[in-house]
Amino acid sequence: MERHDVIVLGAGLAGLAAARDLVAAGTDVVVLEARARAGGRVEQTVADDGRLVQLGGEIIGTFHTAYRQLVGELGLTLGPTFVASEGETTWQLGEGVYLGDDLPWMTSADRRVYDRVEREFSALAATVDPEDPLSHPEASTLDSLSVADWVRAQGGTPAVLRALELSARVLAVESIERTSLLADLRKESAAGADGFYNYEAWENERVLEGSATVALRMAEQLGARIRYSSPVSRIHIDGSASYVQLASGEAIAAAAIVSSLPAGPLRDLQITGVSDERLTSLHRQRHAPAVKVAAVYQEAFWEAEGRNGTTYMENTLLGGTWAQNSGILSGLIPPSSLGEYFATPAHRRQPELTAEIAGLFGGQVSDYARFYLRNWATDPWTKGYVTGWRPGDVTAVGPLHGTHEPPFYVCGSDQWVCGYMEGAVRTGRGAAAAILAAR
Ligand SMILES: Cc1cc2nc3c(=O)[nH]c(=O)nc-3n(C[C@H](O)[C@H](O)[C@H](O)COP(=O)(O)OP(=O)(O)OC[C@H]3O[C@@H](n4cnc5c(N)ncnc54)[C@H](O)[C@@H]3O)c2cc1C
Repeated sequence: MERHDVIVLGAGLAGLAAARDLVAAGTDVVVLEARARAGGRVEQTVADDGRLVQLGGEIIGTFHTAYRQLVGELGLTLGPTFVASEGETTWQLGEGVYLGDDLPWMTSADRRVYDRVEREFSALAATVDPEDPLSHPEASTLDSLSVADWVRAQGGTPAVLRALELSARVLAVESIERTSLLADLRKESAAGADGFYNYEAWENERVLEGSATVALRMAEQLGARIRYSSPVSRIHIDGSASYVQLASGEAIAAAAIVSSLPAGPLRDLQITGVSDERLTSLHRQRHAPAVKVAAVYQEAFWEAEGRNGTTYMENTLLGGTWAQNSGILSGLIPPSSLGEYFATPAHRRQPELTAEIAGLFGGQVSDYARFYLRNWATDPWTKGYVTGWRPGDVTAVGPLHGTHEPPFYVCGSDQWVCGYMEGAVRTGRGAAAAILAAR
């Protein structure tokens, strides 16, 4: 049987970051990747005129320190995102289309309630340790409530709830009615407890050479240590006799095994030799599913109209859009719209989405050069998008979240507070450090 010091499962940002650090420390590593490419949920393609189009993860924020450090080590450059762009935001609401930076349906009384509830949310978030949310004295109560339950209990008006729901739609995360308050408090505590989702903290920079270039550069460094088109179907942990089995039947042994697989694909594996508690915890993790849209235009026509490309969409398949790069609009179809999206015949999806964008910007949106639809929701190697936490999930996943059971190590964005590229890099490098420390 082929044998290595460490087998890493998955060549997304987490697996690649783990393998890179292990190799740098002189470890013999093989990375087993199901797809024929590296990057996982970061993926890019090249439009006819050479512009890079991101079909997966794109943007990072100020507190994403592990990702920023890696970008520096790889000699790549960070630059601003749509957050810095001038122009007005567009709102597609039940009442019609509106332009402007404030929430158009809010009265000044609603705005005061919003600001008060947001301050209360920040104060509560500051009491949650993002590394150990279950240590909070009220952890199980906070986890049993949805964000919406709590906002109502604080006197949040329907207009305030509507603002938060629209914000969840554009991010393509689960409804605030289906999101654990404790999970959301942990997420915003990690970002500095500065209110509800803060675009400056979460989304103000991107890699100018292309977000997926981060993964591609690590894959280049790892070279033949990555075996592509090699889905794993079984993991057996038994000290120095641990091994994994590929779908082809081949078995490969190693002293340590690192899984960076997303929650869904990990559930498909047969895993033996790992404690029941850990398997139960891993199997309770889940994702919010999404489909990504990227529409490539000759130029950023919205700028000529004094708009910034950011839209919030209430009653559509799309939850909203933002400007990804010069002349490129990104958008996500959130969990609440996916049933309708998949029920739409495949040949009707693009025209319907184009019509939705046209409803916001006018006829020129049908003049796109390329239109990409990337379904991550049912892709067998992702089965989702970003980590989702429904009420009760933080407690059910429990204190084993983000920990290891040597020689079985777990990393990947699901092992951080809420997914994201930061979570992948942070936990990937963390797993490598834990293996090296155990030597
Ligand atoms: C549309 C979209 C937009 C996003 N936007 C952002 C954003 O703007 N900012 C941000 O920070 N994050 C964003 N994210 C999230 C971010 O991209 C991910 O959290 C991160 O890239 C995940 O990295 P990972 O290594 O943990 O997992 P993945 O990238 O999913 O890597 C796991 C790897 O395991 C492989 N695999 C799966 N099953 C098997 C198997 N059985 N055997 C072998 N290999 C297997 C997969 O093919 C994959 O390569 C976005 C994600 C999506 C999908």
